[in-house]
Amino acid sequence: MTDERRIRSIAIVGGGTAGWLAASILARAAPAGTAISVIESGQIAPIGVGEASIPPFIDLLRLLGIETHEFVRATGATYKLGILYRDWLAPGHEYWHPFGTFGATVGRRPFHHYWHHAVAADLNPRIAEFSLCAALAEAGKFRFPDPRAQGVAAGMRYALHFDATTVAGYLRQFAAGLGVQRYERTVATATRRADGFIDEIIFTDGGRLGADLYIDCSGFQGVLIEQVLNSGYVDWGAVLPCDRAVAAPTAMSAAPPPYTLASARSAGWQWRIPLQQRFGNGYVYCSSHLSDAAAIDDLLGKVGAPLSEPRVLRFTAGHRQRLWSHNCVALGLACGFLEPLESTSIQLVINGVFNLLDHFPDRDFDPANIGAYNRELIEEFEHIRDFLVLHYWATRRIDTPFWRDVQTVRLPQTLVQRIELYQGTGRIRARAGELFTDLSWFYVFAGLGLRPAAPDPLIDATARAGAQRLIQALQQNIAREVRGAPSHESYFAAGQPAAADLPGSAVPG
Ligand SMILES: Cc1cc2nc3c(=O)[nH]c(=O)nc-3n(C[C@H](O)[C@H](O)[C@H](O)COP(=O)(O)OP(=O)(O)OC[C@H]3O[C@@H](n4cnc5c(N)ncnc54)[C@H](O)[C@@H]3O)c2cc1C
Repeated sequence: MTDERRIRSIAIVGGGTAGWLAASILARAAPAGTAISVIESGQIAPIGVGEASIPPFIDLLRLLGIETHEFVRATGATYKLGILYRDWLAPGHEYWHPFGTFGATVGRRPFHHYWHHAVAADLNPRIAEFSLCAALAEAGKFRFPDPRAQGVAAGMRYALHFDATTVAGYLRQFAAGLGVQRYERTVATATRRADGFIDEIIFTDGGRLGADLYIDCSGFQGVLIEQVLNSGYVDWGAVLPCDRAVAAPTAMSAAPPPYTLASARSAGWQWRIPLQQRFGNGYVYCSSHLSDAAAIDDLLGKVGAPLSEPRVLRFTAGHRQRLWSHNCVALGLACGFLEPLESTSIQLVINGVFNLLDHFPDRDFDPANIGAYNRELIEEFEHIRDFLVLHYWATRRIDTPFWRDVQTVRLPQTLVQRIELYQGTGRIRARAGELFTDLSWFYVFAGLGLRPAAPDPLIDATARAGAQRLIQALQQNIAREVRGAPSHESYFAAGQPAAADLPGSAVPG
């Protein structure tokens, strides 16, 4: 690439979480001298939900140079150690998808193979005996990972629960500090050059703005990627039929637990996300099985009086056919949507920006480069789709038509292969770069009662005997760490010392 062909200006349409995350990362990473602007409408509100993240969000804060404590204080965030799934396999049943390590590798074999032996031997092992994150979450406690520690604390990971609108506001200020220009305007449409590339965006007040690269973060409507470039949509409603959500915040009724609760309901599932000042609640449901009015009644019946009017949101699982088309890249809700069952949307925005940096164009916009970007991000969407579909397909609930239907969907071939490998051998083999590792898949397989037909042949009686001592040591270490850890709520109590100074805490990420 010659310097004359370099991208000189980037215009980001949309000032929700996606727009300000993109602006913040690009302002740090794009070549010096690139002018970055964000256009946000004063008339069209951001979606304002999106309250749970996954651990790479902490890595992003570090990369941006944002101090985690400062971010938590300024945004009213709480810490998250994983997700507790309630009533999915059957009413009354619970399972964990915690963050961090699980057990320890013994003789190069992942610990979940020893777990299968323990289950087969009727030892009734519990995930929380081998996962510090699950154990702390169950106890309502929290501590930071300690990279200097030798034991289980070294393998801890955590994420945050936060208010998406507050986070967008925080990042707006942060990006402004890095020189990002903000315009409060509403985009009406855009003009295109003879080759189809976007020339200028046109505001409703008649003003215009031109840039070399456009990033569409305008939410579900996709003002540029769909309304101007007609990208098309790949609809996954056949395998992920939930298409609505009703969201209703409630007052703090209890200490905030350090985890997201995802409870299966008659036509979908309900989230409870603790923030410092309130609970975020919502019911994700399938409109052909439940009306909006019934979903609202159902949710309020569970969570009590809301702090604001319940909001119904409509969506279709899937993604734009082309996430990057011509000189426009779509991110966030403008590029696709997967229900928040594993809190992946905001991470998909972050991965999209990193992928854009890995394929950063010049003004020739090499089609092979654009094709590579699209393939990589679509693979990521498909990987997450498969993971979400597993949560529904593997349940054994048959108490409502919704639960009977989701167990009969035609599974994507990529998921069939993963299930067959696991059911045969207990192996998973997530590919490098996939968002969910073998361990995440294991938690859902095991949580929903899927068992491999044959144990790992490399784990014989000698290996099991060797592992036994380690297993006891692990259980003791985890119990000791949990005893010494502060309660989660103590991190937010007024007048408390900074979290890093609390007993049992190590350096935050
Ligand atoms: C029910 C639900 C629950 C969710 N829960 C989670 C979760 O737990 N975790 C997670 O990671 N994600 C979650 N998400 C996804 C998350 O909310 C979004 O991925 C994230 O907030 C990014 O949204 P966005 O910025 O793409 O869109 P929005 O927040 O909708 O922002 C769009 C922006 O574009 C601007 N805009 C729109 N049209 C125009 C125009 N014509 N001109 C100028 N500006 C315009 C708006 O003013 C706004 O600033 C959830 C989503 C839903 C629907």
